[in-house]
Amino acid sequence: MTTLNIALVAHDRKKEEMIQFTIAYEHILKKHQLFATGTTGTRIMENTNLTLHRFMSGPLGGDQQIGAMVAENKMDLIIFFRDPLMAQPHEPDIIALLRLCDVYGIPIATNMASGELLVKAVENGDFAWRNMYHQEEK
Ligand code: PGA
Repeated sequence: MTTLNIALVAHDRKKEEMIQFTIAYEHILKKHQLFATGTTGTRIMENTNLTLHRFMSGPLGGDQQIGAMVAENKMDLIIFFRDPLMAQPHEPDIIALLRLCDVYGIPIATNMASGELLVKAVENGDFAWRNMYHQEEK
């Protein structure tokens, strides 16, 4: 089985949704290496048994840190519950992350519905092709 690097990010008004999502899919997520922005990571760890690597909070550079992993082709997929109804101070960082995902062809789900599809694809083994990048690291 491929152990994937998965990033989880949720804007403030989407954090509750992210917690429900990680509780529902904990059995799948726990088999992978998880990363999150600061507050999202803390909230997930408080509410599940998952362990995540926490980056900086989003507005303090966390999205950029995830972007750096994308640029190195080390991030396999991102689940990013964005708040479409509130302006974010770090909007340029968010756009930069979305752009890098397009540059490198990394799947990024920006809402719960697409997030569920990605997690189910992970469970189905549809991400086995990412193995070739993990092999290169060894
Ligand atoms: P946070 O960052 O998890 O630290 O809240 C997410 C964001 O707001 O981009």
